[in-house]
Amino acid sequence: MSDCIFCKIIAKQIPAKIVYEDDDMLAFHDISPKADVHYLIIPKLHISSMLELDTNHTHLMGKMLVKINQLAVESELTGYKLAVNTGHKGGQEVFHLHFHLMANR
Ligand code: 5GP
Ligand code: ZN
Repeated sequence: MSDCIFCKIIAKQIPAKIVYEDDDMLAFHDISPKADVHYLIIPKLHISSMLELDTNHTHLMGKMLVKINQLAVESELTGYKLAVNTGHKGGQEVFHLHFHLMANR
């Protein structure tokens, strides 16, 4: 997706503070953090929002959720909020599916 800001971060065309990367996903610091820890976790596959999910994404989504919790544990978080704004009416601004992992120290 040539006009997608998160695809550009995946392609390293835009810098980001990356905290984790593998073949399927990327985690990086939100540019405008709303908590002491605020990571965005995205699939490398361009999925515009939760509204686009289907059963082909089941394994990917499961893998991402397990990794998100691992990142939280590695960041020594004892609790956190996980949010997925979905669609314009759900407050979504960037239309590449992303999980917000947020916690205060
Ligand atoms: P949404 O409202 O779509 O769920 O959240 C989009 C998030 O992406 C916001 O929290 C915003 O701060 C973050 N964001 C937008 N542009 C960039 C960027 O270029 N780099 C990073 N690291 N975060 C971004
Ligand atoms: Zn994208």
